[in-house]
Amino acid sequence: TVDQVGIANLPNQRFKIVSKEGATFTLMVAGESGLGKSTFVNTLFQSTLKTPVDNKARYKRGIHATVEIEVTRAELEERNFKIRLNIIDTPGFGDNVNNKDSWQPIVDFIDDQHDSMMKQEQQPARGDKKDLRVHACLYFIRPTGHSLKPLDIEVMKKLGTRCNLIPIIAKADTLAQKEMNEFKSRIRQVIEAQDIRIYTPPIELDDQASSDHAKSLIESMPFSVIGSGEDEIEVAPGQFVKGRQYPWGIAEVENEDHCDFKKLRSLLLRTNMLDLILSTQELHYESYRTLKLESAET
Ligand code: GDP
Ligand code: MG
Repeated sequence: TVDQVGIANLPNQRFKIVSKEGATFTLMVAGESGLGKSTFVNTLFQSTLKTPVDNKARYKRGIHATVEIEVTRAELEERNFKIRLNIIDTPGFGDNVNNKDSWQPIVDFIDDQHDSMMKQEQQPARGDKKDLRVHACLYFIRPTGHSLKPLDIEVMKKLGTRCNLIPIIAKADTLAQKEMNEFKSRIRQVIEAQDIRIYTPPIELDDQASSDHAKSLIESMPFSVIGSGEDEIEVAPGQFVKGRQYPWGIAEVENEDHCDFKKLRSLLLRTNMLDLILSTQELHYESYRTLKLESAET
């Protein structure tokens, strides 16, 4: 079944390229402060991580030294296949007087990783390459029910040309189903009208099950998510769910009627992880390289 299509059992050529060295997967979260980015990362990896999240490192870059980008390393195991995971939590932006100062470091970080890989490739082989290229950037959108803000559009354009951009609607529990559907379709319209490049799961024509799955992912975009606290909620004796408790009931993280958390998790950690890794190399890294080499020639 589609749910079992993990990175560990894809028999094709592209998989072999990755599996020789084991895979490294780097996930970034970005967007305004207070949208639940850090909470979401915790919710996503709570149940999946083999080793606890530790090894936090802070990344500061020259003039933007006040802005800290935090890299967390962890390890994930999927059918005896080890995935080294880097989670990049970025400081929220949007509440500064000069917004450019708050998102530029995020864009610079992505470029810097491509640059560092280029430099390493120009050196004679010296063991493991340090690779922090961002394979997927989750961009959190405030659940206003209206539309994308000019700031969102500006930042998403920059991110989409540099990495696999996946737009996310934060705090899905704050919008009713009908509002959510309208909000999603308005965002899709703006993304198209503004020519924002977003990651789209490829539809494989020779495999019905996986092409159906890809289509259902695409139809749900931008994915709505709910993040929850450490403690699960007991809904029946001995039965626990991840969610947020309200007087009217529970907004459940893993209930597909409540949000798209499960679809997003499946895309990131199972069905599309390999495509995210390889398209980063084949598309985003290659275009960065080409651009750099061209500008060096002139
Ligand atoms: P960040 O600044 O984007 O990293 O946001 P945080 O993860 O620190 O969360 C900001 C606040 O939003 C906290 O009080 C969270 O408990 C709350 N929060 C996080 N996720 C959700 C969600 O899905 N729904 C609601 N209603 N609140 C959330
Ligand atoms: Mg945070």
